[in-house]
Amino acid sequence: MTLEERLAEVTARAAAAAARAGRTLDDLTIIPVTKFHPVSLVRELYELGVRDVAENRHQEAREKALELADLTDLRWNFVGQLQGKKARQVRSYAHIIHSVDRASLIDALASDDTQTSIFLQVNLTEDPARGGAAADELDELAEHALRAPGIRLEGLMAVAPLDVEPRAAFARVRALSERIRLIAPAALSISTGMSADFESAIAEGATHLRIGTAITGNRPTDG
Ligand SMILES: *Cc1c(COP(=O)(O)O)cnc(C)c1O
Repeated sequence: MTLEERLAEVTARAAAAAARAGRTLDDLTIIPVTKFHPVSLVRELYELGVRDVAENRHQEAREKALELADLTDLRWNFVGQLQGKKARQVRSYAHIIHSVDRASLIDALASDDTQTSIFLQVNLTEDPARGGAAADELDELAEHALRAPGIRLEGLMAVAPLDVEPRAAFARVRALSERIRLIAPAALSISTGMSADFESAIAEGATHLRIGTAITGNRPTDG
């Protein structure tokens, strides 16, 4: 299959999953994850109408964003673990950061002069190395984000753990999202769903899908 065909197929599957949940494609932002792929693939996606792409490593993301600076309405989403000392650099090209999981990172991204959209990442495993805040830290982080200048809190992000049925994991994220909205009513978005599980994510209210291989094909130098 070509890139165009894979993108069309994922879009059709997302539309069908949305319809089953009484939702429509308009509720969804499909974000191709282009990590490890060359800029030529990102440009091809842009030509197919894509306006959001995601990367997970700062160095690679920065180089690509610089090379594609002519695509002024392409939005860069950052989805990888983020070091505090790199936060300001990431903010300089990334429009949306999905992987914010601590107050110090919010402080590093905050600014009186720029607007950065963030998701709070919640860790659904017991393993702190997997990134994300614990569920019981979210209320405090949401309050922190609301107080931070230049930070727009979009909602919650999560990756389904390997050992749990994805739909159950996403149902948990949806419940956490409802709780966070009591603190931050505008934080309506949910960034869940990858190649293997995006239909379950849509069934549980996902608004932002981070989809790599199902759209791009296998990553060239994965792992
Ligand atoms: C790579 C990546 C994805 C996409 O993964 P696929 O399984 O290829 O769809 C989604 N989210 C994050 C955080 C990633 O690092």
